Amino acid sequence: MADLPRCRRASWDDVDAWADRLAAAVRDGDAVPTTIVGLTRGGWVPARLLADRLGVKRIVSLRAQHWGVTATPDGAATLAEGLSGPVADEATLVVDDITDTGDSLRLAVDHVREAHPRRLESATFLHIAHSKFTPTYFAEEIPRTAWVWVVFPWNYWEDLAQLATRAAERGRGVDAIRRTLREACGLDVPRADLERVARYVPLG
Ligand code: ADP
Repeated sequence: MADLPRCRRASWDDVDAWADRLAAAVRDGDAVPTTIVGLTRGGWVPARLLADRLGVKRIVSLRAQHWGVTATPDGAATLAEGLSGPVADEATLVVDDITDTGDSLRLAVDHVREAHPRRLESATFLHIAHSKFTPTYFAEEIPRTAWVWVVFPWNYWEDLAQLATRAAERGRGVDAIRRTLREACGLDVPRADLERVARYVPLG
């Protein structure tokens, strides 16, 4: 894993399009769920957007933990907190933002299975082809040779703070960091955003 990863910033328009595509796939599969399980934290917004499109009233949460800091898997994936509600006899869809190693989603699906749902499927917006686990539905596949760190809108400030901190090791100050993020990560960040980060993270 690169110290400063190649990045792709996802827009809310991308997110909307992925949610539309996933909802259509779930409907085509004739498998509209009665309960959506949103993995925290990355799966919460996707879970809510799918619930909106599919008319699903019930969302429960499950907390998987894997990637400690941006673009760095932190040991083995673990389930830090169990299901926030029962799923027995529910048609259940487990939702996350991306399958990368696939460890978290596999762990989550195995855990949910033990809670005896009537049906069990999974969905992610993005699926990296090297993942050990393939979700039932995904909106877009990223080829294994094209791995990127996806900067989702719900993780933007956290990712930016971490990437900028690492970029600062190569040259401090907002302008140098901005250049490094563009050259090393392929990320074009507005100056104002880095100035905002610099207010609470020391960037020199
Ligand atoms: P999975 O949930 O399929 O097991 P991972 O264990 O690979 O996925 O990753 C867990 C979480 O880490 C993801 O749900 C996502 O929030 C974050 N993540 C992993 N890889 C990436 C990536 N390439 N870009 C952005 N976020 C990622």
